[in-house]
Amino acid sequence: MIEEIAVNLYKNEIPLPNSPLKALNSYVVKSSDRNLVIDTGWNQKECLDAMHKGLRKLGIDIRKTDFFITHLHSDHLGLLPSLISDASLIYFNRPDADRFNSGVRVDAFISFARLNGFPEEELQASLLSHPGFKFRAKEKLVFHILKEGDLIRIGDYAFTCLETPGHSWGHMCLYEPHQKILVAGDHILNDISPNIQSWSDEWNPLKAYLSSLDKVYGLDIELVLPGHRGTLRNVKGRIEELRHHHQERLEEITSILKKGGMNAFEIGSRMSWDIVYDSWDVFPVSQKWFAVGEVLAHLKYLEEEGTLRREIQNQTRIYSLTARS
Ligand SMILES: [Zn+2]
Repeated sequence: MIEEIAVNLYKNEIPLPNSPLKALNSYVVKSSDRNLVIDTGWNQKECLDAMHKGLRKLGIDIRKTDFFITHLHSDHLGLLPSLISDASLIYFNRPDADRFNSGVRVDAFISFARLNGFPEEELQASLLSHPGFKFRAKEKLVFHILKEGDLIRIGDYAFTCLETPGHSWGHMCLYEPHQKILVAGDHILNDISPNIQSWSDEWNPLKAYLSSLDKVYGLDIELVLPGHRGTLRNVKGRIEELRHHHQERLEEITSILKKGGMNAFEIGSRMSWDIVYDSWDVFPVSQKWFAVGEVLAHLKYLEEEGTLRREIQNQTRIYSLTARS
């Protein structure tokens, strides 16, 4: 489905079958010289068909088209290898490019999940059935690396690159200051909150995410084009809601831990999730991954803040409140 957003700027809706996200918003910027496609969809036939159909409708010559990918997740990058030609530039950020090209470290994921209480019988099968894994791009790619402040000029548009880490290590938005448009990827979504998760000890994604929200809060923006669901206009209001959402999650975890120390999986099973399933036990395993990953990001934040400490008991990480909390 194609929707005209502004002059020479279109939204091409790419279905994500069986995903609660429903669809990926791919944006297309047309010009008489080169075109730009922003984000692509999963490496899956349904996505490829929808992409081709939309591009055909817009009369886009794929050989005169470059690509900008907001972050490495498969719903944004997975379809890319089926679309590029030898003449395509792929604009991407350094942290995500390095991780993408070094491949998925399944073993590292599994041992981190095990350490955090994920039940043994669900581990391997759930990661392998995860859509982000199933529909990923499998070949290595050559990227044209962009950094903060770099410009992409297409027709009358001049997009500035904004580094907005949090949802991924190197997540990048595009800001058009004259049109006051923000291409937001999964940094800001309208009626769902971007998933902030952590599957390693390397960084504090929630802390990074909150400062990336602060960065966008200061910009003059009239229209946000997110990676999923509808566009939005009141960006400051939405950022305030997202900050509040994470504050509530931090408080919920702290209050769950008042009952005693537990692992991340157990905390996840006790939290309230905005999802259609009746109970934690009937959550599809891929949704448990998202949920536990989200819990881990909040635990990391609280731990660095000094509110929590962790220790190993029976080869599992147990979190408990410190005197400071
Ligand atoms: Zn996404």
